[in-house]
Amino acid sequence: SIPLGFFGGIGASSRNGILVKGGNFLEALNEVGTVVFDKTGTLTEGVFEVTEVVTDMDRHEFMGLAALAESSSPHPIAKSVVDAYNGQIDRSMIREAKEIPGMGVSLTTTDGDVYLAGNSRLVSVEGESNQGTRIHVSKNGRHIGTIILSDRLKANAKETIAHLKKRGIATVMLTGDIRENAMSAASDLGIDEVHYQLMPEDKLRILEEKLGTGRKLIFAGDGINDTPVLARADIGVAMGAMGSDAAIEAADVVVMDDDPMKIATSMDIAAYTRTIVY
Ligand code: ADP
Ligand code: MG
Repeated sequence: SIPLGFFGGIGASSRNGILVKGGNFLEALNEVGTVVFDKTGTLTEGVFEVTEVVTDMDRHEFMGLAALAESSSPHPIAKSVVDAYNGQIDRSMIREAKEIPGMGVSLTTTDGDVYLAGNSRLVSVEGESNQGTRIHVSKNGRHIGTIILSDRLKANAKETIAHLKKRGIATVMLTGDIRENAMSAASDLGIDEVHYQLMPEDKLRILEEKLGTGRKLIFAGDGINDTPVLARADIGVAMGAMGSDAAIEAADVVVMDDDPMKIATSMDIAAYTRTIVY
């Protein structure tokens, strides 16, 4: 039988916009030693602003191609590129659109042109500077332009990290983003440990290395390139508003409004629930 108090804890969670998928996760929330965060969309807004477009083409025409290439991708960068283009996207031009996790997207048009949009691992460029997030676009192997975007830390992110650290919980950030962006976010937030430029499989490997080494481990992500990690953690926490359906399904806890502080709130509710149950 399940102690009644767990239902109380689940109810209290849901009133706070936190979906906890069972009493066993409430119990586990009392034993957390480490919280591992994905960066983009979890600690940052995941709503990128285009700060610069560098291209020899007509800017509007170039942005139209970039938006077309990104129009099939669920990635926050892709959504931001699509939003930044104020024109019509003719999706009937798409023959095939592919996501290349941790790198970008590839698009084949009905004319047979192949466009790539993504980081320098996908589209190599000479003299790459490392400021902001740079999305390079190529057409049939030739670089045709670069979009520079910037993301912002979530309002509550720094407070969340401080709060967790005060409880003696270790904080870790995993990201597919480049070193410069990872380090500046981590130092602004006060995060203990950072791993950057990770492919989705690297995130899973690092998480697995940390599992079973002590207390319970939370992974918090938005499900874009990290759903397997969400599924593998002791407690997978999905950001439910921006996150994908797959993330909500794979997660054990869903934060409906994407506020990272709700991770700490869920622990408070779990602790309070335990005082009622026992
Ligand atoms: P994070 O770990 O920060 O959430 P991801 O693993 O989702 O990052 O992506 C890592 C990097 O891969 C991004 O910073 C970006 O450079 C590139 N990338 C991934 N998806 C896309 C996309 N749809 N369009 C352009 N770039 C992308
Ligand atoms: Mg992500």
